Amino acid sequence: MNARHGIHVRVRAGSGAKVYIDLIDATVSRGLGGLHHYVGIPSTVGGAVWQNLHFLSPPPERERTMFIEEVVEGATILTEEGEVREVGHDYFRFGYDYSILHERKDVVLDVTFRLDPAPEEELRRVIRENLQWRDDKHPDLWLYPSAGSIFQKLEGIGAGRLIDQCGLKGYIHPSGRAQIFHKHANIIVNLGGAKAADIRAIIELAQETVKRELGYDLKPEIGFIGEF
Ligand SMILES: Cc1cc2nc3c(=O)[nH]c(=O)nc-3n(C[C@H](O)[C@H](O)[C@H](O)COP(=O)(O)OP(=O)(O)OC[C@H]3O[C@@H](n4cnc5c(N)ncnc54)[C@H](O)[C@@H]3O)c2cc1C
Repeated sequence: MNARHGIHVRVRAGSGAKVYIDLIDATVSRGLGGLHHYVGIPSTVGGAVWQNLHFLSPPPERERTMFIEEVVEGATILTEEGEVREVGHDYFRFGYDYSILHERKDVVLDVTFRLDPAPEEELRRVIRENLQWRDDKHPDLWLYPSAGSIFQKLEGIGAGRLIDQCGLKGYIHPSGRAQIFHKHANIIVNLGGAKAADIRAIIELAQETVKRELGYDLKPEIGFIGEF
């Protein structure tokens, strides 16, 4: 970690560091806020930049989506041309679930975050609230494996809410191995031994049903690799 820079503090993290728990612990225990918001989301620093990690704004509103790019100042990358370069925030062309890393085969080596000093107790309060919010809606990471949210959020509507309106919350695939999570319809959980094809079938069912009954297009925010 570097010394204070104005009212911000720069923190440089290796791309393999885990945002949750390691980096959040290291920064919060030094009274630095900005990354604490993404508590509970499994991701390394490299994966977080690739995806532009996001989560809902703090209570009471929980309406705005916050993105990790808001605290990314720059990075060291190994470009697809084989050159080590320092790049700024704008290089990544961040968007929802998007950065330039989706187009280019650059490897992120480390990332510099711009964090704000804040009382540790205050940061820990937000952490507790965010973890509680996730616990209420998300499956326990260890009990019910999942890929997190399946569909992109439709601003002001919510993909899960649409699936729920169609009566699919809690739907279990005929194999009995996969289910639309009973507490949050935008998550599909593995009940044990689920195949990628089971998950894919549930995704298609949700897309077709929501389109037919409510007229909305659900766009997956996860990637698909291989054949199903
Ligand atoms: C239960 C659960 C809940 C989730 N909740 C959320 C959430 O609330 N918000 C959210 O935004 N996401 C959420 N996610 C999604 C997930 O955390 C992200 O996709 C994250 O980016 C995965 O990080 P990873 O380090 O495991 O990356 P991986 O899965 O290993 O890789 C993801 C992609 O990043 C690329 N990548 C990784 N490291 C580098 C690097 N150093 N340089 C270049 N490219 C790299 C990989 O090539 C790959 O294409 C959730 C996932 C799960 C399983």
